[in-house]
Amino acid sequence: MKTPLLRIEDLTVIYQTDLETVHAVNNISLTLNKGETLGIVGETGAGKTTTALSIMRLLPDRTGRISAGSVYFEEKNLLDLSEKEMRTIRGENISMIFQDPMTALNPVIPVGKQIAEALILHNNDHLTRDQIEDQVNQSLELVGIPAFRKKDYPHQFSGGMKQRVVIAIALACRPKLIIADEPTTALDVTIQAQVLQMIKELKLSLNTAMIMITHDLGVVAQTCDYVAVMYAGEIIEYGLMEAIFDDPEHHPYTVGLFGAIPSLVSECERLYTIEGLMPDPTQLPEGCKFKPRCPHAMTICDQNPPLIKMSETHEIKCHLFNQKKVSL
Ligand code: SF4
Repeated sequence: MKTPLLRIEDLTVIYQTDLETVHAVNNISLTLNKGETLGIVGETGAGKTTTALSIMRLLPDRTGRISAGSVYFEEKNLLDLSEKEMRTIRGENISMIFQDPMTALNPVIPVGKQIAEALILHNNDHLTRDQIEDQVNQSLELVGIPAFRKKDYPHQFSGGMKQRVVIAIALACRPKLIIADEPTTALDVTIQAQVLQMIKELKLSLNTAMIMITHDLGVVAQTCDYVAVMYAGEIIEYGLMEAIFDDPEHHPYTVGLFGAIPSLVSECERLYTIEGLMPDPTQLPEGCKFKPRCPHAMTICDQNPPLIKMSETHEIKCHLFNQKKVSL
């Protein structure tokens, strides 16, 4: 049996202001093994980024709080670590790629120096200056940027190249886990494809585990081994990518997500949309959180369904778990 690299158990996260409590993540559990990629997919506000920030312990200080659960990385509960211990984990063991490369990079520092800073901050191998220089060159070349460009500033790179620099910084210390939060959303479509292909190749060559946060099922299909579909802070479907993509007709929300993808072969004139909005996270409905939008809602849906195993590789959180197919 594989030992998980990351194991999240019953994680619950709230944002507390003077006026209200936002229930951002509600009792989720996930597992990720070495070298695997898990896609977390869902609409804006589903709790994807909050999950990532909780793993990194980077929730906003004043408002964000993990109110229950555990996050085990190599069997160590990250929530028990001191801030100093956590700083060692960040960058060296787990690093994060953010959505917008322009805000992730410092505009007044050459990109090579920004990669070197990541190495110096976590210089546990006591690398010499020459070794750091070598690693900066290698990191740039890994992401397809010639090493001589290390003296250039971020504004001298295109959007796709900037995101490659961000990925080079994330890879600099060769972390065991990378969390990529919508890494291609800010890029145009052709560049997106190149960056995704590069991420896929790097993951294979470095055997790094990855959490890919996205609202785009196409990105999941291209890069992920496992998928967790999030809705209103809960995981409503979880499994092997092929198990969900080959058979997506079980949870009404996932059915809707797949129905909203344009098809080159179907003759429909309008794309399907899921009616309504995600519930207000300060006032989540009782029972199934998707009930107000679900075309199949029943009386029993007033009770929150558990995640039920449909097979060894596929779980859904819906009272329709025993139906063969759910239609739009
Ligand atoms: Fe719809 Fe009920 Fe399933 Fe929720 S539990 S998705 S309301 S059928």
